[in-house]
Amino acid sequence: MPTTRKPRPPKLHRFDPVSNRPVLRAADIVTAALKLAGATDIDALIADLRNPESVAATKLKTIQFTEAQLDLIDRYAGHMRLLRNKPTVAINECPTCGLVWAATAKQSKCTLTRDCDGIPAKSGTAKRIAL
Ligand SMILES: [Zn+2]
Repeated sequence: MPTTRKPRPPKLHRFDPVSNRPVLRAADIVTAALKLAGATDIDALIADLRNPESVAATKLKTIQFTEAQLDLIDRYAGHMRLLRNKPTVAINECPTCGLVWAATAKQSKCTLTRDCDGIPAKSGTAKRIAL
């Protein structure tokens, strides 16, 4: 008797941020989502996701976002608008004065706040981990 083949459920993934600080972790996740979806920025991504048939919606279908990740992205929504894909624009955050700015490279010192001796950290791209 032939066995009926059940369609395999799609493999699920999650995004694992590579940074330590909250705003940078949010940026890591958004950057990974932009790259996977092929969207230029978060506004384009959200617009694409409104259409369930879009490439972005299809590509992100297998990503499981946690409640905490969505809260984090929501909390830093303004900063997430600085991020770009193709070419990549990341954000730098100075841990001393707390300023966040768009940057394509990590800067070795804080140049935005006078006499601030903070060393900025740059956001990266979250890793895609199979669940
Ligand atoms: Zn600073």
